Amino acid sequence: MTKILIVEDEVGLVTLLKYNLEKQGYETLVCMDGKDVLTTALLENPDLILLDWMLPNISGIDLCQKIRKTYELRSVPIIMLTARGEESDKVKGLSYGADDYIVKPFSVPELMARIMALLRRITPVPVVRNLSYGDIEMDFSKRRVLRDGHPVHLGPTEFRLLQFLMEKPGNVLSREYLLKAVWGGSIHVELRTVDVHIRRLRLALNENGGRDIIRTVRSVGYALDSHLQDEE
Ligand code: CA
Repeated sequence: MTKILIVEDEVGLVTLLKYNLEKQGYETLVCMDGKDVLTTALLENPDLILLDWMLPNISGIDLCQKIRKTYELRSVPIIMLTARGEESDKVKGLSYGADDYIVKPFSVPELMARIMALLRRITPVPVVRNLSYGDIEMDFSKRRVLRDGHPVHLGPTEFRLLQFLMEKPGNVLSREYLLKAVWGGSIHVELRTVDVHIRRLRLALNENGGRDIIRTVRSVGYALDSHLQDEE
């Protein structure tokens, strides 16, 4: 059974979410206080987290970062729930490790569709072999990425992005192609979202001081390129 952790401090919204998710056949868990989230998530191993931006004691953004930095939770998909609708907040939410973002007040069918879409896209694409390019290795059975022998911590969306880039190294993949491949062509995802997740992927890959391996082809897309010069 798919387990969803609801992190939200508004009682009314918790009731609404719980009722609708359970009606769809999901198992639900609730944290109304941000400080319980890490412990609950580690104990219960949810398949997806709905995370409110404004929480007492700790912000959703801080929690999002903490979840991504916790090894056991690094690949759990996160949807941020927020009252803010500013584009910069959206980008900020995504760059702190969320996989999707929905603005309150949202319609229940829309949220359900987003949850289904996210669960579908994080389901690993079956691959017969591991991929390697340059100093990067992807091990699908262990869902692990190594760069120059060091583990790289990637969220589920970045993992999928890297997979598609690794399958065609050297080729420029358009943002439209990546959007369709990784997000399944969800209509609510904008092209800029691809850029945000590429930025996160790049940061994670370069964390241990590795040189940039993702080539940006302005207004076209991205390519993996192990011979990239430091000109950008
Ligand atoms: Ca709140």
